[in-house]
Amino acid sequence: MPARVYLGLGSNLNSPPRQIKAALKAIAQLPGTQLIRCAPWYKSLAIGPGSQPSYINTVVEIDTALQPRALLQALQQIETRQGRKRIVRWGPRTLDLDILLYAKRSLNSRQLQIPHPRLGERNFVLQPLADIAPELSLPDGTPLARLLANCSPAGIVRLVAVGSGGRTD
Ligand code: AMP
Repeated sequence: MPARVYLGLGSNLNSPPRQIKAALKAIAQLPGTQLIRCAPWYKSLAIGPGSQPSYINTVVEIDTALQPRALLQALQQIETRQGRKRIVRWGPRTLDLDILLYAKRSLNSRQLQIPHPRLGERNFVLQPLADIAPELSLPDGTPLARLLANCSPAGIVRLVAVGSGGRTD
């Protein structure tokens, strides 16, 4: 039985819309994986050191037969293929792929924490997630809607259409 999984995507370097599109294609081609839905795209102000370009962020829903660690490894290969360089923590990046939720599983190893540890603080993740899965709750029963209600909406703008490349409504 494949697992229903939600992934966060973000990019703020080298034509972010192009990076996100390429990542969607690569995710859809992962073994045993089907891309179910992609959330609207958001432009968000960068957090992290120095002044950085804004991000494009979105979330995808997939069904996958890959186990969590194999999935993380596959996502890191996609990041690397798209030129991700791990130089500064939270520094600018061509592509950031996070496992947000993996079915109803909780994992807490050094390498991989699920749900993603910063899920509840990030409106640029919570909002697109709620756009495609408003009824979702975390493995501990916390409704996504409650996390979203407790998170400031500041700093994100929804883009008009998937792949619109920067127009806002
Ligand atoms: P980042 O710089 O945000 O891409 O963080 C990457 C590191 O976070 C990787 O070395 C992963 O091992 C770790 N990590 C822990 N939990 C997760 C998760 N749920 N999704 C993606 N990366 C994770």
